[in-house]
Amino acid sequence: MDDHRVTRRGSLIKLGGAGLAAVLGWKAVEEASGAGPAAVASGAVSCVLSPEQTEGPYYLEGDKVRRNVTEGRPGVPLTLKLTVLDVSTCKPIKGAAVDIWHCDAVGAYAAVTNATFLRGIQRTDGKGAATFKTIYPGWYQGRTVHIHVKVSLGGNVVHTGQLYFADSVTDKVYTRSPYSSRPGRSTRNPDDSIYRNGGSRSTLKLRKVGTGYTGSITMGVQR
Ligand code: FE
Repeated sequence: MDDHRVTRRGSLIKLGGAGLAAVLGWKAVEEASGAGPAAVASGAVSCVLSPEQTEGPYYLEGDKVRRNVTEGRPGVPLTLKLTVLDVSTCKPIKGAAVDIWHCDAVGAYAAVTNATFLRGIQRTDGKGAATFKTIYPGWYQGRTVHIHVKVSLGGNVVHTGQLYFADSVTDKVYTRSPYSSRPGRSTRNPDDSIYRNGGSRSTLKLRKVGTGYTGSITMGVQR
């Protein structure tokens, strides 16, 4: 199913988010039901600028271009479908470089040990989509579950953000091995200061597929 059906809307959208311009006149993408300010507030409309968030300490230049980033790391399979739209036109952007990196099931980042697991780059296709095969991230002290993302166009970074997971889904996943070997995660979405600055608009839409999940989101960027 293509969940990126674009519907042009001329509605003037007003958002109070600290990281956003006060008034966004962009045409909105209607992903499911409803449109207009209420739909924006509820997250149903996603052709709005994705919130900029810190890239954090574990970004490395020169990640590998590859779809499967797991390198055999154990965990619940996660297919990520990340779509990039131009917020000024609401049209998909082809050829954008999407860079992701996240920690493994026990909360470790490759960057700490000069390894390369769970990091990679894909270029968006004609529908603006970049797809990755990875695992559901683990957690580390003081942060809610997240995936870092950076989007570049022609070598220029146009978006740096983080992607989040519904706590209820994480709770289910973390009952499974190997996550269950490390219980008691410290921080849930509402407790995370970075999440609180726009995280609800950067939360993946998760769908159970087989033993794993697909996570999809549309990221609106400015060229
Ligand atoms: Fe992180």
